[in-house]
Amino acid sequence: MKDTIVFYPVPAIGHLVSMVELGKLILRHYNQRFSLTVLISGDFNSAAAIDPYIDHVSHTEPSITFHRFPALPKPPSLPPSPTPHPAVVFFESIRLNNPNLLHTLQTISETSSIAALVIDFMCNPAFPVANELNIPLYYYFPTGASFVALMLHIPNLHNQTNKSFRELGNTTVLHIPGLPPIRASQMGPNLLDRNNQVYNMFLDLGMLLLKSSGIIINTIEALEPKAIKAVRNQVPAIFCIGPLVAKPSDQSGAADCLSWLDKQPSRSVMFLCFGSRGVFSVKQIEEIAVGLERSGQRFLWVVKNPPPIEDKSRRLSSISIMDFDLEAVMPKGFLERTRDRGLVVKSWAPQVEVLNRESVGGFVTHCGWNSVLEAVCGGVPMVAWPLYAEQPLNQEVLVEEMRVALPMEAAEEDGFVVAAEVEKRVRMLIESEEGREISKRCREMKEKALSAWAEGGSSGTAFGELAESWNRG
Ligand code: UDP
Repeated sequence: MKDTIVFYPVPAIGHLVSMVELGKLILRHYNQRFSLTVLISGDFNSAAAIDPYIDHVSHTEPSITFHRFPALPKPPSLPPSPTPHPAVVFFESIRLNNPNLLHTLQTISETSSIAALVIDFMCNPAFPVANELNIPLYYYFPTGASFVALMLHIPNLHNQTNKSFRELGNTTVLHIPGLPPIRASQMGPNLLDRNNQVYNMFLDLGMLLLKSSGIIINTIEALEPKAIKAVRNQVPAIFCIGPLVAKPSDQSGAADCLSWLDKQPSRSVMFLCFGSRGVFSVKQIEEIAVGLERSGQRFLWVVKNPPPIEDKSRRLSSISIMDFDLEAVMPKGFLERTRDRGLVVKSWAPQVEVLNRESVGGFVTHCGWNSVLEAVCGGVPMVAWPLYAEQPLNQEVLVEEMRVALPMEAAEEDGFVVAAEVEKRVRMLIESEEGREISKRCREMKEKALSAWAEGGSSGTAFGELAESWNRG
């Protein structure tokens, strides 16, 4: 009888896709040994957005079994106001789902032996359930190894000071094994305040990582050698199996933009896209538009519906309306004036296909890790404009360590970026010597990314070791 591997992802597109890609690989290479079940917990705002993707995978990969937990009532322990941080709501939903998880794992165990429970790092509150059932638990990071290195070091940093990273601010430089020096203020919004619940959840994660059976990271040895080495020195087992990126056939989005791209000259178009949840205020959209217009460069820009409240610093949407009046949020006349060299797409574009088009010469990205890997696989240089989560750290690593991106400089207080900065970075990446250097490095990195999964490559080898560790368990 086959053993079962159980995946427990975050039900959000940026977390789910690479885990499913790992699942496809397992079934392709080891379908005689393992079957795969993917657990889907409902959280309170974003789970529905992944339904079309799950339907699509269920049809195209029928061996992947998706199992949905019943919907939860709103968690009673969270205060109704002020609105809790989305990460707090999510962690709480995972904790409340533990009885469902326990029941499901017990049910699977009646007919099959569970070789491993692989949880997204954000599903950390599920740790005690695996412990109780004595099931080997592996963490999955759809992020870079740099973020893992940071998580592992949080407990040490916590014990070294009584202050929050926010108080340590811009002047305190942190030295974390495997990372370039980073300022305390770059720790990412979730970690800035040590009294905050999210911070404490990540502190727990930092400690529990050491007790897991292994850590699986969607990265490649050649991309982050220092961070990977630092992680390897601290944890029982690490498996770098990237780059796992969405298949173009699994992505939706306005395909018209692809035929437009095919008509543009080689490496001439700047692609601007900010993940599944990055949004800007109307004021920020205006600055980007002015910057693009003044840069004189070609562009393809994916714009999401701005949040209803004109809040300059709000850059993460929980739900965004896909269809909206684009003209109304753009500066007057902009679309008309730039129509011969620019295209603005509403809400969503098929990003992997876009990044593999010959005409794309640069990518202004929010530094979400999937976007970073997709750019690396396309050999496309980046302008790094972090918006939320661990993205400020990714920016630092992309610019200082990997040297595959230029930084977008934003205002310290609210992250606002002025038109002149947009113009400068777009021009630099496409026109300057420095931009050409970065471009060259990205094309070299693409080759390394491809070779990680070629015969004898680092990721293929790590994947074999991972499957072997499941066999031993
Ligand atoms: N994506 C896309 N089209 C869009 C925006 C995003 O196909 O217009 C995909 C992108 O290719 C990537 C994922 O959504 O695979 C976003 O993941 P990432 O980690 O970059 O950011 P997140 O959405 O998690 O912040």
